Parts: sequence; structure tokens; C-alpha cells
Amino acid sequence: KTQTDATEHSGDVRLSGISKTYGTFTAVHPLDLTVPQGSFFALLGASGCGKTTTLRMIAGLEEPSSGTVHLGDQDVTALPPYKRPVNTVFQSYALFPHLDIFENVAFGLRRRGIKSVKKQVGEMLDLVQLGEQARKKPHQLSGGQQQRVAVARALINHPKVLLLDEPLGALDLKLRRQMQLELKRIQTEVGITFVHVTHDQEEAMTMADQVAVMNGGRVEQLGAPADLYENPRTTFVANFLGTSNLIEAEVDTRGADEVVVKAAGDKLVLPVARCAAPARAGGKVLVGVRPEKISITHADEAGSIPEGRNRITGKISNTSFIGVSTQYVVDCAACPEFEVYAQNIDRDARLAPGADVVLHWNPAHTFGLDADQSLL
Ligand code: ATP
Repeated sequence: KTQTDATEHSGDVRLSGISKTYGTFTAVHPLDLTVPQGSFFALLGASGCGKTTTLRMIAGLEEPSSGTVHLGDQDVTALPPYKRPVNTVFQSYALFPHLDIFENVAFGLRRRGIKSVKKQVGEMLDLVQLGEQARKKPHQLSGGQQQRVAVARALINHPKVLLLDEPLGALDLKLRRQMQLELKRIQTEVGITFVHVTHDQEEAMTMADQVAVMNGGRVEQLGAPADLYENPRTTFVANFLGTSNLIEAEVDTRGADEVVVKAAGDKLVLPVARCAAPARAGGKVLVGVRPEKISITHADEAGSIPEGRNRITGKISNTSFIGVSTQYVVDCAACPEFEVYAQNIDRDARLAPGADVVLHWNPAHTFGLDADQSLL
């Protein structure tokens, strides 16, 4: 390996077959995962799915029951946390209450015996936009500012990887959104690998280049946010990342590019590439489409719908105006709570509860999931 190669990958995090069991309970099943250097990576999942345990194994705070952790080319599995080139930011900022902001950030440098800290601390405080607050004590700052101090305090040690364990969990929604953008900016600026644990799908989607969706101690799917949203491979991922409108269907025919399915009398088409189910003729699949991809037309106007669209019929059960769009809940034979968000359409007064409607969309926006998999 050349020197350049080694440097380019020195911030890679590579987990090979790592697992964690507590007695007979498996918190993390053997997991293989590579986080490329310089990426913003999110471990996303509901409470108890094993994401924090995974992060703690990277940090060295938890010993894996099997497998190895590499940072770049270095096997760090046996190293204690302080010998690993990583730092962790926790939800409880854990700032030193008696020290001012400057000294909180300087702490790591002072501990290593570095005397002239002013320039480095100043740069870090500027990075997190707290240059003016250096002489305040933690309790004089807002929650978001305290969290930024915690980030500066971790980054001053020049870790190759920053681990963030639900760092925004204690903040209110508005502040959390601001801090999401702020953390993303900081990550882009420093260019090191961030591994971020969250249960909030919007947070993961906003910040991360790559998201690993975890469920029951396993990674169900890994991908870029848009890819996960548009091409979920499991019902869990489809539902965790938004509304998926899953329609029960039976495979009619499977061609080279397209699968045709029957759903309560309607025929729907989906691209083979977007079908995660075996799709054998006669087999069951769940067909999904995101609510914002769907158009809604009163049944009397069905003749105006262009050819080649997927369509199902139903009856409106509920509507709500939510500003930029109107949300319709439609009762369809194959999917009783079908949700549609129609944007910028001429409001049709007839589209009211009780109206018969046709829902239609471009087949390319359809995805297919294994109907049996929810039983796994
Ligand atoms: P949360 O968001 O609630 O922290 P998580 O996805 O991060 O959830 P983990 O903290 O990784 O989940 O925990 C995964 C599972 O392992 C949970 O069911 C938890 O109860 C269990 N667990 C974690 N630590 C221990 C322990 N020390 N002993 C026994 N079980 C544990």
C-alpha cells in the first residue's frame, strides 16, 4: 500500500462480524459494515435495536462478543477507548460545570501537557461559532450551545472519527433542526468521519450521506437517504422512513423489466429492479408507493387520466388541509388507509369524504416487498 492510500483510508471504520450478546440475549447480531473516511454516517433505528451498542463497540466502551473493529488499517479491537483515534459526544453533554467554555474545550490539550492552547481553542470555538462565549460557564449557555461546546471539546483532540450518540436528543424540535444543519456544516468543514446514532429518521435523512437502518440487532438496509426512501427493501424500512401505502397484491406475470400484479381487481405494474420480493406468478407481494407520488382524480373524471398509469379505485374517508398540500385518506379494497398528499392541484370541491376516486401514479414510483417477510 502506498502512503497516500493509507492516509486516504485512515478514517475508515470497518466492522467485521462484530456482535454483542448479554447472557442469552443478542443485542447485535454479527455485523459487517464499512464507513468510508470523511463520510457522515447514521445508525438509525428504534429504541433497543442495538445502535448504541454498535457505536460503543467502535468507541471501545463495549467489548464485542465476536468480530473485529478496524480504524483505517489498524485493528483496534483490543485497544482501550483512550488509545483509539476516536472521540464520542453524548446526549448529556457532560461538560465540566466549574470550568468556563474555553477551559472545557482546552481540557484534552491540557491533559496531554500542551501549554499553548490559545490558538487551537480559539479556532475550535470559531468552528462551532462560540468565539464570543469563551468566558461563560456551561450553565449560562443554551442547550444547543452546550452541545456545540461538547463537539468542539471532542474535535480538539483531532480524532479520525467522531462518534455522536443521540447528541440532539435533549433539544427541542426547532433547535434540533438548526443543530442538524450545524453539525453537517462542521463535518463538511473538518472532513473527518462522523458516525451518528439516532432514532429520528428525519435527522438521519437530513444529515447523513449513508444511513444504516437497524432493527432487532441487524442492519436491515444500508444506503443513501434518497435511495432508502425510494427503494426500501423491507417493510420495516419502508414504514420507518415514511408512509408507504402498502397494497396487498398477487403476482400476475413477471417480465424482463416489469412485474404485473393484481390488487383487488386492479392491475399494477412495477419495475423488476424495484421489487425486493421473489415475484413468482401467483406469489404474494406488498406493493408500495409514497403518498406524494400519487394523483387523485374524482371517479367522474377517470377518463382524463393518461394511459400507462397505475391506478386503483377507492372512496375518500378523510381530508385535511396542511398548507402546501392537502392530505387525503382513501379507503381502497386492497389498502384501507391509503394516504395521498396532493400538491398544487386545483382544489376540486367534490374531493370530499365519501367521494369515489381514482388514485393514479407513474409505475416507476412503485416498489415491491416480500409479503411474508413481516412474519420473520
Ligand atoms: P436506545 O435508543 O434506547 O439507546 P439502542 O438501539 O441504542 O436503543 P442499545 O442500547 O444498543 O439499543 O441496546 C440494544 C439491546 O441490548 C437492548 O434491548 C438493551 O436492553 C440491551 N442491552 C444493552 N446493554 C445491556 C446490558 N449491559 N445488559 C443487558 N442488556 C443490555
